[in-house]
Amino acid sequence: MSFILVTGGCGYIGSHTLLEFLKNTNHHFLVIDNLSTGFIQNLEYLQNRFKNRITFFNYSLNNKEKLEQIFHTYNIECVLHFAASLSVEESTKIPLEYYKNNTINTTFLIELCTKYNIKNFIFSSTAAVYGQPEGEFESIDENFSLNPINPYGTSKMMSEFILKDSSKIYNFNYVILRYFNVAGANMDNDFLHSRALGQRSKNAIHLIKIALECAVGKREKMGIYGINYNTKDGTCIRDYIHINDLASAHLSAYQYLLQNKQSNIFNVGYSKGYSVKEVIDKVKEVTKQDFLVEILGNRAGDPAKLIADNRKILQYTNWQPKYNHLEKIIQSAYDFECYLRDVENE
Ligand code: UDP
Repeated sequence: MSFILVTGGCGYIGSHTLLEFLKNTNHHFLVIDNLSTGFIQNLEYLQNRFKNRITFFNYSLNNKEKLEQIFHTYNIECVLHFAASLSVEESTKIPLEYYKNNTINTTFLIELCTKYNIKNFIFSSTAAVYGQPEGEFESIDENFSLNPINPYGTSKMMSEFILKDSSKIYNFNYVILRYFNVAGANMDNDFLHSRALGQRSKNAIHLIKIALECAVGKREKMGIYGINYNTKDGTCIRDYIHINDLASAHLSAYQYLLQNKQSNIFNVGYSKGYSVKEVIDKVKEVTKQDFLVEILGNRAGDPAKLIADNRKILQYTNWQPKYNHLEKIIQSAYDFECYLRDVENE
């Protein structure tokens, strides 16, 4: 039997991607997560829905001995590597933690893959590797130069380089997915039976999540980080992609690897940008809730505009996004946020 190894499988993107793979393949999955930012509830949801197909290891990726045991024991066909620190702002304050957790641990994981002859590797990268491209452009394609402006982006860019260089020498293939801004919750949630998967966080940092916490009354107010950017309304523009579409991009990447036996890099987004103000207005409209929004100073490390040119993934893989609609993203995230609030109040 061959296995798919998923690091960070208890996190938001990892768990939704696992769901996609569990639904569409017959594999067994090995999940490694130290639960530092992941949630055991995400794993429980998946284990309840798909019995006996996930083996969980509560390890950190820097636990070399334990990790090696896994590689030694199981026949691993593919690695999906999600585990990472992911806050742009935090990375500017504790850069070494980001380089250790994101770059050094990834290097070790790649080393194990080479040692145990693993042939397929899918890596969670980010639009932050592009930094803030100069000049006039509407969207960013994969050939834009990499010029990260925060340690988070740099830590991911370096991992990309390490993957690229080692794959040539050790004869394995990778797909690097550069995520734009992910939001929303699983679309086939069954709230009636308390079976739901969505974005949990101990300390929310992402725009849509924070706005929705205001909408459900978990927070009193929120802030806009800067209104002096060179954009249509002065606030930052991002390309928001629904979590189920991001998850299915991984399945398409996996199928691409099996079929083509070659490496590639793909942006994952919708090629459509919304400003921070537009997103907050849309949250208020969808939820029919009003809340206080303050104007704050710029957040460290934020580029003004990040919109994906997604033509490459659409051309080279079978990826077909289904939820390219800001309202759907917000509605699904809101439903999940209401569910979380009700569960916590029980
Ligand atoms: N943002 C904001 N207020 C918040 C959270 C985020 O104005 O409470 C802005 C942030 O400065 C950025 C955009 O929303 O311009 C998206 O930020 P997020 O943290 O969601 O994702 P990032 O693009 O940083 O990965």
